[in-house]
Amino acid sequence: MSALMDKAFTSDRHEALREEVRAFADQTVRPRVARMEDTRDVDHELSAAIARRGWIGATIPVEYGGMEAGHLAKTIIIEELSRVSAAMGAMVQASQLGVAKILHFGTEAQRRRWLPPIADGRCLPTIAVTEPESGGHVLGMSGTAVRDGDHYILNARKVFVGNSHVGHVHGVVVRTGPGSKGLSAFLVEYDRPGVRLEPLEPTMGLHGFSFGEIVMEDARIPVENRLGEEGEGLDVAYSSSTLYGRPNLTAVALGIHRAIVEDTVDYCRQRRLYNAPISEISSIKVRLGDMQSRLMTARLAAYHAVYLLDQGIPCDTELMNAKLINVEYAIESARAAMDVIGARGLQTRYRIERYLRDAYHVLAPAGTSDVQRLRLAEAALSVERRQWSERFSKQVRARMPAERVPGVRAAAQAAAAVHNATAATATSAATAATATSGTTATATVHGAHGVATEAGTGAGTGAEIRRRGALGWRSR
Ligand SMILES: Cc1cc2nc3c(=O)[nH]c(=O)nc-3n(C[C@H](O)[C@H](O)[C@H](O)COP(=O)(O)OP(=O)(O)OC[C@H]3O[C@@H](n4cnc5c(N)ncnc54)[C@H](O)[C@@H]3O)c2cc1C
Repeated sequence: MSALMDKAFTSDRHEALREEVRAFADQTVRPRVARMEDTRDVDHELSAAIARRGWIGATIPVEYGGMEAGHLAKTIIIEELSRVSAAMGAMVQASQLGVAKILHFGTEAQRRRWLPPIADGRCLPTIAVTEPESGGHVLGMSGTAVRDGDHYILNARKVFVGNSHVGHVHGVVVRTGPGSKGLSAFLVEYDRPGVRLEPLEPTMGLHGFSFGEIVMEDARIPVENRLGEEGEGLDVAYSSSTLYGRPNLTAVALGIHRAIVEDTVDYCRQRRLYNAPISEISSIKVRLGDMQSRLMTARLAAYHAVYLLDQGIPCDTELMNAKLINVEYAIESARAAMDVIGARGLQTRYRIERYLRDAYHVLAPAGTSDVQRLRLAEAALSVERRQWSERFSKQVRARMPAERVPGVRAAAQAAAAVHNATAATATSAATAATATSGTTATATVHGAHGVATEAGTGAGTGAEIRRRGALGWRSR
């Protein structure tokens, strides 16, 4: 894949993170894929090992122990894991999705309680919205929460919940009243009395990933576990799905797609017919060209959308398009790869059939392709809709790396230059940047690569700057 295309969006730190995740995926995840495929068992140990790297906390601010690396970094983490195991990419995306509601709607007390253990991998969050009858029609749900003093009593059945069987805290959306203002969200610990899991149903793909059923029967949940106000449940569900679900699933599809193209190209180089590799057959070349074109377009759409999100620029439409393009193109390329490889495509050791099965799993969550098309049609017809990326843009923008804040980038580069020239400490670069930019109130630059966080959060101390260093975000 074109390194130049990546460089339009990524920094050295993104690429260092990519190398780190790729090495982990190849060394630690790849050897366990065959077992997950054979047994279809959820790999609790591997899920925990990945979480301990701190990658679930990609967008969690540093003051809560997170990486605070942004949505593009999150995309890279999911993409690199999914290239090796879409099941583990899906595991990471599902819990990162579970972070969104706490970041967007949590009180300070809820953030302080839940985000640090999520960031260091001790706690995997989920989001549980879908019910058997209502499916994608969120307002059609019938699960309830009824206030009883300083508790709510929850009764609901949630299906297809990502990480259902490895999750520690479920973000459950249920009815507290009628209509669109009658949904509310709650944080429900997995071990509360009245909460249980149904056995997992066998599925077509993503073997090793749990997406199953959580049942709540008269589960008593304290009022302090409610997220946001009563009636904000629909906002919790939609904002999480739009700002995290769509880009995360886009990244899973992108990782699968890369694996498809890489494996097919390798196969075509090795398989010989008529005394030459089959990559010399013109109709096969055309197929490979189509696959490469789809992959480049899909990746561009994926990176562009999360780049905008990191900038705090409204991009709901780009996020939808990225999901649509990535899922549809990955499935098309998997189908093309099956054609190119022939009978061996059916054999599990060639992996193409796995990619095809896994790619289909990314279709339904956060809106099927038809749902994305309907929303895109509304954009074409200029139908006014609330943009979630706009509503939360201030929050996203305040947390973005300083070199990416329009107008601060030059200052960050100047700071990096000062840093390089004088071989000074990262702290001195920070001082230089803030002095040059005149934006001391908003940004503090970290290290030679000019990464910053909001000042005044407690994260921008000299010690913290040195600890995070110039080379990368703090994985664990
Ligand atoms: C891998 C995976 C992970 C998932 N993770 C989670 C999770 O973490 N939490 C969670 O709560 N749920 C999760 N889901 C569930 C997912 O959100 C649902 O599959 C989705 O909402 C669609 O519901 P459904 O599959 O029941 O389809 P249905 O709602 O029954 O839809 C059936 C068909 O109707 C079409 N349709 C429905 N509504 C419309 C509309 N308004 N306009 C046009 N067409 C429409 C759909 O496109 C589809 O073709 C996950 C699903 C999968 C496969």
